[in-house]
Amino acid sequence: MTPGYYSSLEPFEELFKTGTAILAYHKIGRRPFGARLKGLYLGRRLFTRQLRELHAAGFSGMSLGGFLQPSSPGKKVVITFDDGYQNVFLNALEALAETNFKAIQFIVPGLLGQRNTWDLASGEVPEPLMDHSQVQEWLKAGHEIGSHSLTHPFLTRLPLKTAQEEITASKKMLEDLFGVPIQHFCYPYGDRSPAVCELVANAGYRTACTTDFGVNLSETPKFELKRLTARYRSRNWKNLKSFIFRKP
Ligand SMILES: [Zn+2]
Repeated sequence: MTPGYYSSLEPFEELFKTGTAILAYHKIGRRPFGARLKGLYLGRRLFTRQLRELHAAGFSGMSLGGFLQPSSPGKKVVITFDDGYQNVFLNALEALAETNFKAIQFIVPGLLGQRNTWDLASGEVPEPLMDHSQVQEWLKAGHEIGSHSLTHPFLTRLPLKTAQEEITASKKMLEDLFGVPIQHFCYPYGDRSPAVCELVANAGYRTACTTDFGVNLSETPKFELKRLTARYRSRNWKNLKSFIFRKP
């Protein structure tokens, strides 16, 4: 049985042979005191270790655009980051360069250079989002950006017209600001309906990422790509026990 999130390659190696894995990261760096969704933080060292492990096992990075071409053989993995956190810009670029992986950041352009305001109502710790010049640096390093909507709402809870605005205006805004085609969308919270997926396709995107668990086959719908959330191993009692009573 594979766990519901990705921490190290070993339990996933068999699964990764059956399809293309897309890893989903959020925040890279030390977790601040009081963080509620602790699993969305991954320390810089563990992130580096995860990439080195994939690299050593012969995996190379693929762009989401790779799903639009006839599948090429080889061990491929897609690295994605949600929300556009500044801590990714500060803590992830070095490890990505070292292991030669290219990644995509799903940006919330309505909040560029601001904070994760959508999380604050639930008492989450504020985190700065990448600003204009940081996104430019990110692109200059050879990475990509995609849209994560204008303001990170639950798209299915909005009137369809407003959802459409979130989807289309964010694409145009990112293209105007950074001069690159925006071809990939990521549903905030993974929240979607057939109508929302259709809006994304009609807006001119080529793929969209969900938070559904699994790897992707050539027949996986391009607007419902599956991902594996990458995080640290949880320190539950079983893990703790095996750590305490481990054999020397
Ligand atoms: Zn998000």
